[in-house]
Amino acid sequence: MASLNIVPLGGLGEIGKNMMSVEYGRNILIVDAGIMFPEADMLGVDYIIPDWEYLRDKKDLVRGIVITHGHQDHIGALPHFLQEFDVPVYASRLTRGLIEVRLRQRHMLQKTTLHTFAPGDVIQMGPFAIEPYHVCHSIPDAVGLGITTPAGLIVHSGDFKFDHTPVDGWPTDYAKLAEFSARGVLALLSDSTNAEQAGATPSEASLNDAFHQIMRQASGRLIVATFASLISRIQQVIDVARQYERKVAIAGRSMIENTQIARELGVLHIPDEALIELDKIKRLPAHQVLILATGSQGEPMGVLSRLAAGRHDSLQIQEGDTVVLSSHTIPGNEEMTQSVINLLFERGADVYYDPIAPVHVSGHGGQEDQKWLINMLHPRFFVPIHGELRHLEQHAKIARALGIADENIAVVQNGYVLTLDDGRLEVGERVPGGYVFVDGALVGEVGPRVMREREALGENGFVTVVARYDRRTGQLVGRSRILTGGFVYAPESGDLLDRAQDVIRSAGSVKPGTLSREVEDKVERALAHFFYRETRRNPVVRSAVMEG
Ligand SMILES: [Zn+2]
Ligand SMILES: [Zn+2]
Repeated sequence: MASLNIVPLGGLGEIGKNMMSVEYGRNILIVDAGIMFPEADMLGVDYIIPDWEYLRDKKDLVRGIVITHGHQDHIGALPHFLQEFDVPVYASRLTRGLIEVRLRQRHMLQKTTLHTFAPGDVIQMGPFAIEPYHVCHSIPDAVGLGITTPAGLIVHSGDFKFDHTPVDGWPTDYAKLAEFSARGVLALLSDSTNAEQAGATPSEASLNDAFHQIMRQASGRLIVATFASLISRIQQVIDVARQYERKVAIAGRSMIENTQIARELGVLHIPDEALIELDKIKRLPAHQVLILATGSQGEPMGVLSRLAAGRHDSLQIQEGDTVVLSSHTIPGNEEMTQSVINLLFERGADVYYDPIAPVHVSGHGGQEDQKWLINMLHPRFFVPIHGELRHLEQHAKIARALGIADENIAVVQNGYVLTLDDGRLEVGERVPGGYVFVDGALVGEVGPRVMREREALGENGFVTVVARYDRRTGQLVGRSRILTGGFVYAPESGDLLDRAQDVIRSAGSVKPGTLSREVEDKVERALAHFFYRETRRNPVVRSAVMEG
């Protein structure tokens, strides 16, 4: 008999780029294919996608990919994935709409097979019967998955919370969870994002008070920055704005596209007269304007940092503006966020952000939500997913406290092969599960070395040496040219650069016949060493040693 393998390829040991492979025999089902936004020190990287190297030699075993919801950390890597894997995609209505936007941008819509499911449907895929069930999250049309396999029923929670008053009025499907429980759950894979938060996550409805208060007080324009994919938040902001007779302009391509598709599908309700185009807001008095804004990758800091720096094409902060940052901060970007907020204040805006004002609630359940799900499903095995290692460990503690045996809990990071066989859960070998950087059109060509080099360039600048070399004598000819950028101010560094000439000359003095390539290496190493000794800095050093 075959065994059931579960291989997390993203989202375990980190927040973002969620992806999981579920395998039985010669059949593979993929759940989600998301991106992760880069941390502040990943210079020039647009986003990061999962490393699916493990699947490359199993291409013909992949039966399809099921998407839990339309957030970027679940759908963002799909175009990249589908370029390599020609498999059908299954998604709910809104999720599908958001996927279509991304595929259309890359001219991939025509050649992709998309299937729409509704919660309650059963999708048959090889030996798997997949039952999506509705969950509350910060986007409509989100689901968790019951996956019946020959080994038993697996429940994948997706991202979830138990919100009793969600914006769309549709709570998590408790009845389905009870039904799964009655059937017996072999393993629960559950969202750990908020495993450090005591209590239950507040309802989305709890934000209404804060939005009302801010809109009542603001005398000028309101700019609300959020993620383009937080469709529920967009609805909420617009609903409150209408009560204060503010017209809403939407800034940022991804938010324009998302709201358009969500309106067409009837999951976002905005009458035409509530909207105004961004280039027409000057016609209205400031107190009747609300701008919903997002960055080029659909994240709020993109637009706020441009506004803070005065570098936005069509929007400038003016005295009396109120700016609301209605989102969480991407881990690793806390410092950048704070300096952007400072700059916005400096430009004369009033700024509201979490936790100064309750303008954001998480879409992920806290400890009490997590306990609810475990107790309701009563799984035999438990695998915490979606979170950094500390979140996964905390979630495991919660499961232990609820009576799940230690040996039935697997805390693993990306790439570990989990095997469910014969009533046992085993952690096997580790397959690749790291970062693939996407930088413009470059996918995977920007590795950790390039990243370190960009960091060094940013912090220490560069030094370039152009030298002439005579291979027959093994000596450099004449004086070399030294060009610097961002390292030392050349006119004031004559002495340092004079001594660098000596370093170059002696490094370039080699055995006759030595190749110029080797001379370059020697010169670069000697110079890097010299500059570090003299200045305690590490500029990027490059040399061009030409023969003749
Ligand atoms: Zn999500
Ligand atoms: Zn997520």
